[in-house]
Amino acid sequence: QEILRLEDVGKSYGNVHALRGVSLSVRQGEITCVLGDNGAGKSTLIKIIAGLHQHTEGRFTVNGEAVRFGSPREALDRGIATVYQDLALVPLMSIWRNFFLGSELTRGSGPLRRLDVERMKRVTEEELVKMGISVPDLDRHVGALSGGQRQCIAIARAIHFGAKALVLDEPTAALGVKQSGVVLKYIAKARDAGLGVVFITHNPHHAHLVGNHFVILNRGRVSLDAGRGDVSLDR
Ligand code: ADP
Ligand code: ADP
Repeated sequence: QEILRLEDVGKSYGNVHALRGVSLSVRQGEITCVLGDNGAGKSTLIKIIAGLHQHTEGRFTVNGEAVRFGSPREALDRGIATVYQDLALVPLMSIWRNFFLGSELTRGSGPLRRLDVERMKRVTEEELVKMGISVPDLDRHVGALSGGQRQCIAIARAIHFGAKALVLDEPTAALGVKQSGVVLKYIAKARDAGLGVVFITHNPHHAHLVGNHFVILNRGRVSLDAGRGDVSLDR
């Protein structure tokens, strides 16, 4: 089932057309990879989906309903979680507190809001173990973790708190080969948990390892839209 859809979406900043006539879709249980060089419009696309900017042309639908988000809060309320490259988690906050910031996704309905600190730590530990993420000390500040660990925890958090769509802003860009492999594994787990994933990346190899659907942006336009097997992304 389709969770996100852009139809002929455009975005201008004054007279700069950052995006023009962009159409793409993201299905639950699938990974849509968005590739493109600097200036192609990838950040602009993320900002529209995440509620930081509004499109100036076309239609953006979530679960079939046309939306125009006025804030990141509105995107979260629709179950859209975004993991930014440099700001995946709050550095000066402990791992478990960061994890439970994810309860913002569910706006405190249900029993989560009433959990005490020990419960929150236990749930965080259980969830990270379930995802195969080893964290020696949940009280540690997130700033002490590697970039790869932060990406993984942010992805685990989105899954645990019931996000429907996950937008990943170049999650492997700053990572070495080994950490990239680990993060790609969690991206696949998010897909297998039924989320619709938007994977923004510069790296065709990483896209090809996990992607179901590939969109290449070039100067604000879609220059390729292909399914797995339709295309070889090797350069
Ligand atoms: P990417 O993330 O692929 O590098 P961007 O979405 O950041 O691409 O940028 C797409 C185009 O829009 C670029 O030409 C960029 O300079 C321009 N642009 C992005 N943000 C702004 C802005 N806030 N004001 C004016 N131009 C912008
Ligand atoms: P990225 O690698 O995320 O695309 P950029 O250096 O392209 O980073 O842009 C950083 C930020 O500045 C982005 O939020 C983008 O929207 C904004 N930006 C990019 N180009 C311009 C521009 N010409 N004028 C104003 N803001 C811009």
